[in-house]
Amino acid sequence: MGPNNPVFPVTSAASALPWAGQPYSIKRHGVSITNCDTEPVQTPGCVQARGALLVLRHPALTIAQASENCAAVLGHDAAELLQQPVSRVLGAAGAERLAEVLASDAVECNPVYLFSQTGAGGALLDAVVHTLNGSVMLEFEPSVPTAAAASGSRLPQGEAGLYAVLKFAMARLQTAVGLQAFCDVLTQQVREMTGLDRVMVYKFHPDLHGEVIAEASREDLPSWLGLHYPADDIPLPAREIFKRVWVRPVPDVSGALAEMVPLVHPDTGVPVEMTHCGLRGPSVMYTEYLRNMGVTACLTMPIRSDAELWGLIACHHYAGEKALSFQQRTACELIAQVASVQFRDAEKREQLQSEVERERVSQTLLARAAGSGSLASVVRGEISLKDVLPCSGAALWDDGRWHCVGQTPPLPQLAALAAWLSTRPEFDNPLQRLFASDCLSADFPAAVAYAELASGLLAVPLGPRPGGLMMWFRPQVLQEIRWGGNPHDKPKVVGPHGPRLTPRVSFEIFAESVRGRSSPWLSHEKEAATRLRLLAMELVVVRAQRLATLNDALTRSNDDLDAFAHVASHDLKEPLRGIHKYAHQLREDARIVDEDLRRKLDNLLSLTVRMDGLIDALLLFSRVGRESLELEECDFNAILDEALEMVGSRREETHSEIVVPRPFGRVRCDWVRCREILVNLLSNALKYNDKSPKRIEIGWIGANETPRESAPKEAAGQTVYYVRDNGIGIEARNQEQVFRMFKRLHKRDAFGGGSGAGLTIVRKLVERHRGAIWLESELGSGSTFYFTIPGASGGAA
Ligand code: ADP
Repeated sequence: MGPNNPVFPVTSAASALPWAGQPYSIKRHGVSITNCDTEPVQTPGCVQARGALLVLRHPALTIAQASENCAAVLGHDAAELLQQPVSRVLGAAGAERLAEVLASDAVECNPVYLFSQTGAGGALLDAVVHTLNGSVMLEFEPSVPTAAAASGSRLPQGEAGLYAVLKFAMARLQTAVGLQAFCDVLTQQVREMTGLDRVMVYKFHPDLHGEVIAEASREDLPSWLGLHYPADDIPLPAREIFKRVWVRPVPDVSGALAEMVPLVHPDTGVPVEMTHCGLRGPSVMYTEYLRNMGVTACLTMPIRSDAELWGLIACHHYAGEKALSFQQRTACELIAQVASVQFRDAEKREQLQSEVERERVSQTLLARAAGSGSLASVVRGEISLKDVLPCSGAALWDDGRWHCVGQTPPLPQLAALAAWLSTRPEFDNPLQRLFASDCLSADFPAAVAYAELASGLLAVPLGPRPGGLMMWFRPQVLQEIRWGGNPHDKPKVVGPHGPRLTPRVSFEIFAESVRGRSSPWLSHEKEAATRLRLLAMELVVVRAQRLATLNDALTRSNDDLDAFAHVASHDLKEPLRGIHKYAHQLREDARIVDEDLRRKLDNLLSLTVRMDGLIDALLLFSRVGRESLELEECDFNAILDEALEMVGSRREETHSEIVVPRPFGRVRCDWVRCREILVNLLSNALKYNDKSPKRIEIGWIGANETPRESAPKEAAGQTVYYVRDNGIGIEARNQEQVFRMFKRLHKRDAFGGGSGAGLTIVRKLVERHRGAIWLESELGSGSTFYFTIPGASGGAA
């Protein structure tokens, strides 16, 4: 069986307080507690019966309340003590000493040792005093001889020994490097000072759930190091008390309770507050819980950061009652205070170290990206984007592609996530353009599908949306940690409060509270991501500028080329016509009888015809580049009909089947040019096809439908048209080539010949419409040419 929460029990649902209307006493009402968050632990109305408490009026020092066990501890009946001067118990000299201490020492909320005196049956008692809200709280508890207190610990005997150990402990804490080392030293030193069987540092995570991060224990005990417990395990009142006291001893978990007489202060009518009393009666729920775990004595100290509770030093003993002397407890208090001040330094030192490390990783990545000219390089190599933050995987969307490292959701899901992110208002926040979630499925329900590997997401945009994106993922907490209870255990211990005190329920509550959650993103981690974003943006901007310059140059040279093609083709046409004419005349000249010469003239003639064709193609191409488009709302179905009619003769020549799976919608385009695109693609589909029947499908993929993986980024979110054939196909290595001017993949006359300009012109036409064209093909099985025309809508026209 896994251990229960080492510190506090699990709570259950709230219910009406059974003691409503009457003052609370744990002795009377504690067993009916059903919700630890409402238990008045600061006013329990009872003390641990091993000692006695007197509540005195100040400055009269008369006894207003006394614990019911005064007879057994002090030898005076409680009822008899009420309204009496304190000298009845302390004697005249003792009362005088008390008055002196109250006058001179800072005892408000601060218990100090007064003296030891003999109590009932000759037992030696330590008297400890503090004031609170105008009352004097005088506690008596059995003196613990230092030798007895030291049993089990490696403490040298006597007070001097205690100070020596304390001094040594402080020195070791001050020199510990890093939080872990610090907490290890802390548990070892506290165990050494107290001799308790198990000493743990229990750290609260930002969502308030706890984890045992350091432990020093008897060698034969199983380790609880690394166990996690749900936030609900530590009731709120207990957390509040630890913001106010430095040590909480329960030396006998099974010890009896003694109620205050009367239960409320007779002058004020309110229950006395025992927050600072060492004898404060512990919650029944709490002691029963500890007993279930076999704990016989315990001691707890807070570790605070500013006024907040950062964690606890929780100590358990399993071998019977274990009281510590007042001096030992004071030493523990001191250690807790020192730890509270110093653990932050240790943590800061560690944080600083990791920040330096993170900065180094970021610099390395960016230097690499700048060197290679590609941001994508940040996901490659031993040090990658994944090392910038503690995470299980990272993804980068750049230049129309995903680059992933470590564990990330699959690509289609990443794309959907990115599309959703691009609509997030967080990306508009000028102070920190960043989206962070430790429960992604709550923000983006589709993320449920991959909650195990990515419940946490931190994302930053690179440039204006829907541009680049950097993302880091964290797995669900359930994937990373060990439990404080085995989920398969049946409830083993059923106490008066039912089976909720078992690890099984504890686990289930915990599992429920962390399902779909990752560990949270801390502010310095967000800052690191933001910093990396700014640095990466610089690179993106530089790259964009370089691209813009190149684009300018390219546009200029394209314009020049179009102008040149136009002039050249025009000017070439004239002499070519002349050559053709003279060759023809020569060929027809009856005087030429030489067969060889005739054949050569035939060749010359067909070459001129061919050249004329090429020049026409060039002229057409230059016109496509130069002439403005006449954009209008068109019915794509009608354009297709015309195009099919124009390739009709070729269709009739061959046995072919044309399929249009569903009607097209409308499109804003240049009718004639758009028809030209279709005519070209259709005639190629018929021409480069050796199948019978030739099957051609013309269709569209809606903007909301799953896009083709081959689609370029410009096609994202657009209606995609396609022309698919079952023809000869195109080898992968030639697929880009087919769009080049005068590029043919076959002998000139194979498949009916062609100039090799058709697809070049088609591409130019598509690009003039600001669309994109690409293809998928397999040699022997057929090709599909895809293209987009922005402004196209799917569905019926
Ligand atoms: P052409 O005018 O010669 O048909 P294109 O520019 O239209 O020139 O096409 C270039 C080359 O691409 C063709 O020569 C052919 O080899 C190849 N091609 C074009 N379309 C197809 C297709 N649907 N199936 C197979 N190959 C094709």
